[in-house]
Amino acid sequence: MAEVWTPMASAASLWADTAEPLPAFPKLAGEVKADVVIIGAGYTGLSAAHHIAKSGLSPVVLEANHPGWGASGRNGGVITAKFRLSFRDIDAAHGRAMARRMYEIAHESVEMVDELVSEFGIESARLTRSGQVKAAHNQATLKAAIDEAEWMKQEMGDTDVRILDAHQVREETGSRGFVGGVLNPGSGGIHPLNYLRGLAKGVAQRGVPIFQESPALALRRDGDGVIAETPGGSVRARQAIVATNSYSDLTSATVRLQRTLVPFRSALIATEKLSPNLAGSLMPTGRTYTETKRMMRWFRKVDDRVIFGGRGAFGKQDSESAFEALRRAMTGIFPELADVPLEFRWSGLVGMTLDSVPHVGRIDDRTLYSVGYNGAGVAMSSLMGRYLASLVRGEAVDLGLLDARRVRTIPFYSLREPAVRAVAGWYQFLDAIGR
Ligand SMILES: Cc1cc2nc3c(=O)[nH]c(=O)nc-3n(C[C@H](O)[C@H](O)[C@H](O)COP(=O)(O)OP(=O)(O)OC[C@H]3O[C@@H](n4cnc5c(N)ncnc54)[C@H](O)[C@@H]3O)c2cc1C
Repeated sequence: MAEVWTPMASAASLWADTAEPLPAFPKLAGEVKADVVIIGAGYTGLSAAHHIAKSGLSPVVLEANHPGWGASGRNGGVITAKFRLSFRDIDAAHGRAMARRMYEIAHESVEMVDELVSEFGIESARLTRSGQVKAAHNQATLKAAIDEAEWMKQEMGDTDVRILDAHQVREETGSRGFVGGVLNPGSGGIHPLNYLRGLAKGVAQRGVPIFQESPALALRRDGDGVIAETPGGSVRARQAIVATNSYSDLTSATVRLQRTLVPFRSALIATEKLSPNLAGSLMPTGRTYTETKRMMRWFRKVDDRVIFGGRGAFGKQDSESAFEALRRAMTGIFPELADVPLEFRWSGLVGMTLDSVPHVGRIDDRTLYSVGYNGAGVAMSSLMGRYLASLVRGEAVDLGLLDARRVRTIPFYSLREPAVRAVAGWYQFLDAIGR
């Protein structure tokens, strides 16, 4: 196929600046045969490749740019055992058995990261299980957070969760901006790009071919299998896994998956290294932190820098005004950062879904996919790789609400981006007036 493909550069992030080097993988040239062709080398694709290879089948990974180019290389590295939809809402809408299954999946996903980090010896990922504080900005959201925590204790048996008063949240964060909060000790943090690169290196060392700058430009049936065509060659396989998430529209081969998602730009800023005094006074416990505002912001401290992120009405591209909005939100919480220069700003697309949970399953009898992590995919995509491997082997997997057979596609597809921005703008307004 003669189509020209121009690989895209990485986001200039703190992670890219501090990551372990990863030698380039070759481009696909000629025809290759495999049991499974995997499209996309993020956590989903690489974890699927690992679990498929482990069961004795032969996977091949195709990546349009380079491993970790997508969300897996540029996210916040916050690891949580939850979905955007709360377990209480799942319980109310779908019953106790479903809420329990979703709770199990969420916890299994966090364990999956631990398992992969230790299996491949990825020390550079600096995985911590230091916990996450949900910090409430007013009494109404504190009450909602406490109600939720009490419900989790009583109904899900989540006895680890702890309620914090205003003083304790100030000690945790170093900020006077919160009236209280909830500590979830099981959550954690990671260097997302080192985790990704460790996976790529480990999977390749165990003999899985990874081809970079090799986009699947077409994916079609061929007899009782599939063929994925790239500019330099093709992979003939028995099954395909599409692991392109919110970047599914890079080529026409996977674009129809994008129609099940609402891609939402999420941005991060990182300060330059703080003075030892300032670094010691902010977030001394080294956890990760989220706010209770509708336009949820989160923050953590890494190597004496504050990283601050959030989603917003950020549009298609990075924009100075979006980063400035994040900076204002950060200095609202930490006024002492007002004069500290930012050293890094970057962004990426998260894949939101209408039902607020990921979708995993079959497109047809030869093609599987997993998308829509709703901005909480570091752990979940790692686990979905294992579930995809089970589905490839024809095993039954209880996917709970993630089962793709439940999916409705996004209505009014062409209108959704302006709509997303309009909703985000409204939420910002409500947050600004304190409602
Ligand atoms: C800014 C940001 C912050 C986030 N923060 C967090 C966080 O703190 N915690 C958390 O849990 N989650 C977070 N997330 C979400 C998380 O990063 C994602 O859910 C997860 O990385 C998805 O992994 P993936 O492998 O499915 O997709 P990706 O990592 O996006 O990988 C998809 C890959 O597919 C490739 N591709 C696309 N089309 C083709 C094609 N035709 N052929 C070959 N390759 C193709 C792309 O180049 C890309 O590399 C964040 C996301 C963003 C963007």
